[in-house]
Order: sequence, then C-alpha cells, then structure tokens
Amino acid sequence: SNFAVAIDGPAASGKSTVARRLAERLGLIMINTGAMYRAIAWATIENEVDAADSAAVLAMLDKLEVTCGVKDGTSTILIDGTDPGDALREDAVNSRVSTVAAIPEVRHLLVEKQREYLKLGSLVMEGRDIGSVVFPDTPYKIYIDASEEVRLARRSAEGLTDVVSKRDEEDSKRKTSPLVVAEGATVIDSSEMDIDEVVEAALATLRT
Ligand code: C5P
Repeated sequence: SNFAVAIDGPAASGKSTVARRLAERLGLIMINTGAMYRAIAWATIENEVDAADSAAVLAMLDKLEVTCGVKDGTSTILIDGTDPGDALREDAVNSRVSTVAAIPEVRHLLVEKQREYLKLGSLVMEGRDIGSVVFPDTPYKIYIDASEEVRLARRSAEGLTDVVSKRDEEDSKRKTSPLVVAEGATVIDSSEMDIDEVVEAALATLRT
C-alpha cells in the first residue's frame, strides 16, 4: 500500500530541494504543501481580503474552488482554475502566508487535501506539520534544520528577500499545528552540509 515520506523544517532549510531530489531518486510523487498555503495567501491579495480577518478569509474560501492535482510527478494547485505560478513566491505572499496558515479552518481544509494525495500513490510531502499532523503514523519522518544564519544566506543567494525569521517565529508559535520536530523524526542539520550530503543522509534514514 502507499506510503508517505514526511519532510518538515523551517523556511529555507533546504527541505524543498531535498524533498524533490528524494522523490526523483525513489520514483515518488512530490507534494509541496507550502504552495497550498501560499495559494490561499495569494487569493487574499487577489480578492482584497485582509489575511488577518479569519472570518473574511473563510468567507472567501467558501466562494473559491481550490483544486489540488499532480503534473509531471509534482503537486499543482489551482484557485478557481488559475495557477498563481511565480506569484506564489512574491514578498506580498511571504508576508501574509503565516497569518493565513494560522487559521485552524484553513489548515483543516488543506490537511484533508494533503491526505487525499496518498490515494494517487506513494509520495514525499514537505511542509511544517507533515510528520506531526498530516501523516503522524508514517515511519518515514525527516526534519531538515539549518542555522538561521545559513538559512538567511541561502535565501539571499536565491535573490529573494524573504521574511524568513518572522515566518519561522509565527509558524512555531501558532496554536494549531505549530512547527515542531515530530515524534519519531530524524533531525538532519544541513548547516554544514551540501545538498548531496543531505540527500544521502535522508536516504540513509529511510533505509534503516
Ligand atoms: O514551505 P514554504 O516556506 O513555502 O511555506 C510557506 C508557509 O506556509 C510557511 O511559512 C507556513 O506558514 C505555511 N505552511 C504551513 N504548513 C505546512 C506548509 C507550509 O503552515 N505544512
């Protein structure tokens, strides 16, 4: 039967790259859950909804169709049929996404969609609460960490100005499904490692 590899960690820890490489190596579907929260944040901008007004965000979601799928082995998300594309990584989204992700009903909606992906096949899923909430029973849980200094450097090397530390603080402090090391997860500190080493370390934890 299908299984999930849960990859969690803070922003810019390198978890997306590791998750993508693991999925390629193992022939699994790759699911990026951050993109799902980002798509909701993007929709609040498009619809001029205050991300901090949870009632307004939920009213917006009642009217929108959020369609999750897979294309070329990777998750896709459409909001009323539109793929937000590169807009998901814009500063306006970075600054709102943690606020939207703290709304329990938003998490409930997306967690259900995330669990449904398992029907399509075995997968690597990356996010913040995959090992703790989405798939707490999976034996495959990896938490990718990196020092704050390294994470900031990686983001600016990508040419992105992101509010990484602010997002991490909000993601760690929220009441519903905060960022935690899930029970049974193997922590890999990638601060001093290159990406190949992290991928090998992650593969090694799956083999044991
Ligand atoms: O992974 P990424 O940095 O793109 O995630 C963007 C934001 O989405 C996070 O800062 C967090 O607020 C939210 N998120 C979450 N739970 C997940 C994945 C992302 O709350 N499983």
